[in-house]
Amino acid sequence: MHMLFDVIIVGGGLVGSSLALSLANGGLKTAIVEARAPQLAAHAADWDSRIYALGPGSIDYLNACGAWQGVDSNRVMPVEDMRIFGDDARSELDFSAYDAGLRELAAIVESRALQSALWRGLQARPEVEIFAPASCTALKIEADAATLDLADGRSLRAPLIVGADGGNSWLRTQAGIAVEARPYAQTAVVANFATEQPHRGIAHQWFRRDGILALLPLPGERVSMVWSTRDEHAAKLMGLPPEELAVQVAAASAQQLGGLRVITPQAAFPLRLQRVREMVRSRLALVGDAAHNVHPLAGQGVNLGFRDARDLAATLAARGAQNDCGDFYLLRRYERARREDIAAMQFATDTLQRLFNNESAWLARARNFGLRVTNRQSALKNFLVQHAVG
Ligand SMILES: Cc1cc2nc3c(=O)[nH]c(=O)nc-3n(C[C@H](O)[C@H](O)[C@H](O)COP(=O)(O)OP(=O)(O)OC[C@H]3O[C@@H](n4cnc5c(N)ncnc54)[C@H](O)[C@@H]3O)c2cc1C
Repeated sequence: MHMLFDVIIVGGGLVGSSLALSLANGGLKTAIVEARAPQLAAHAADWDSRIYALGPGSIDYLNACGAWQGVDSNRVMPVEDMRIFGDDARSELDFSAYDAGLRELAAIVESRALQSALWRGLQARPEVEIFAPASCTALKIEADAATLDLADGRSLRAPLIVGADGGNSWLRTQAGIAVEARPYAQTAVVANFATEQPHRGIAHQWFRRDGILALLPLPGERVSMVWSTRDEHAAKLMGLPPEELAVQVAAASAQQLGGLRVITPQAAFPLRLQRVREMVRSRLALVGDAAHNVHPLAGQGVNLGFRDARDLAATLAARGAQNDCGDFYLLRRYERARREDIAAMQFATDTLQRLFNNESAWLARARNFGLRVTNRQSALKNFLVQHAVG
């Protein structure tokens, strides 16, 4: 006996759970299947080392979903300015929300604070049925519906199934959708620090020869680090005791925020570029990291994923008389709407990564020159900011 839905979503990470809320707002009966137990506690005593820089477009979307209202504003840090440094002492590129006519460039939020707000939102929606923790065992795609079997014996059926199950998507593999993956041979090391000097809401980033180091402001005198660096260097950073890590990060950041003290220990994330040939098939669509993986240097992965979820929900809401959520031609509209944005972000982050992950002295001079020239072009800078905030 099948349980019947309008849409089944596999994966209740940030993108999948936001999509379930959007679909519920559109009145669609939605099942969300997540491998892990729902994470409901917003905060622990410490600060989550997984943080996201969300652009204003993502925040508008989360507000429309009804999730942003559930995030404690005391744990959110608006970013008003961004300073990017080259690997010489002179090269710098500054972006300011004020110059671009924006209230803020981005907001920094902890992963668990946002994820728990999404789960609490989902629990309050009668249109959404939560299957978590749950394990998927089989997928069958037929002409009129997709059927998903769970390990506990339940079977779900809907005209559309959505893969929001991350970079190693089980659903994508089951559907046989080809993925082109290129490891960067780099790992992102993250950790949080207390700072000696106030950050004043400024995000700092250094394009160094040993990788890209970002210190993103958290509420109070705290910052969150993302250091994307070659695997061997990352392994060394992961092995450092807290005092030594703080000394090395303070030195790599030219003591911009004075001395540092570790408040959340290191964690590591291997980096890769991933592209899929198809985001949709009849009865199936992919969103978020299941559909694309980008380098975190621009902090855009989940922002892209939220734009997928927003556009898929809008496409389904606009289906009108054509009532079938899983119709291939309807889903193609979603795929076409997303292609350019995703390809542009993959190209930009991959090109920047290649440009800066190179020891050549002339290339180092060229990129430092590029930062200085761009810094003098306010129209170009405003264009870049407007594009980045989505
Ligand atoms: C170091 C680092 C820093 C980053 N910083 C930023 C940033 O500042 N801004 C930004 O926009 N992006 C950032 N990103 C990118 C961002 O982390 C990802 O793009 C985002 O987490 C993708 O969300 P998702 O929901 O698509 O996938 P995921 O977060 O991977 O979630 C997938 C979910 O699916 C579940 N799942 C997996 N398999 C199954 C299965 N078989 N059945 C059921 N459930 C399953 C998982 O448990 C998980 O909950 C960063 C990435 C890294 C590595």
